[in-house]
Amino acid sequence: MRRGLLLALAAILMPACGSRHQSSTPHNPYEKPSVYFSSVTSMVIEVAYETGAEPATGLGLSGQPLWNFLQDNLGSLFQGRVLVPQVTLPTDLSQMKRLPAQNKTSWTLDDVVALAAAQRTGSSTATSADFFIVFLNGYFEGASGPDPSILSAYVIGTTVIAVSKPAVDAVSAGDLPVVGRYMQLFALVHEMGHALGLVNYGIPMRVAHEDAAHPAHCSVPTCIMYWQNEGAWAVRQFVQNYIATGNPDVYGAECLQDARLYVP
Ligand SMILES: [Zn+2]
Ligand SMILES: [Zn+2]
Repeated sequence: MRRGLLLALAAILMPACGSRHQSSTPHNPYEKPSVYFSSVTSMVIEVAYETGAEPATGLGLSGQPLWNFLQDNLGSLFQGRVLVPQVTLPTDLSQMKRLPAQNKTSWTLDDVVALAAAQRTGSSTATSADFFIVFLNGYFEGASGPDPSILSAYVIGTTVIAVSKPAVDAVSAGDLPVVGRYMQLFALVHEMGHALGLVNYGIPMRVAHEDAAHPAHCSVPTCIMYWQNEGAWAVRQFVQNYIATGNPDVYGAECLQDARLYVP
């Protein structure tokens, strides 16, 4: 697990997060947790992929579509709330947007933001939140070049998340295919947690559980928002635990409580 490369990346991303990225694009006033948890009734997740970086789809271990794993965990954050948004996301490759090959060996976050601005179709309003996930056919740019240990990134101040498909493939090479298939989903559950305001990043805490050394992350090691649980090898371990136990709920109790009891 490498540490300290995040300042260069300036975002919440794997394997460690914590720095702050201010998008240069004008900020949409509806893109914030207080809106997501007060007036949003539908949440739309757009998924795009570069040719050659096709996300895994099909059925998951439960016999339901693999991508329901993300939908179910997001739904869990809103469980018991007065307003529960309808989460819409593609579960089949045919419902995801195919992008031409970008021919980049590494991606900076500014590159990702530019790609999203050019390719996303939706935008957030007071009642409908739009998120854009893109699968890249290249590594993220680390402190010393392309970094295969970084699986995914959430660009702070935006609703943009990116996944490095080659990083997923590299870390899960040699595993049963199911490991790689779920690694992408676990990474997305983590990044969507950030996008929605976890930990203490828009959604206030009910009990103290933010990791002081890794802002916006959970201090509970078994929670997907724990900082190490977003490192490539730790996510792989998380997936193997899931396969062994079958427990599909990966946000910990403290994070769930923050979201479910949040009063904007
Ligand atoms: Zn993180
Ligand atoms: Zn947690």
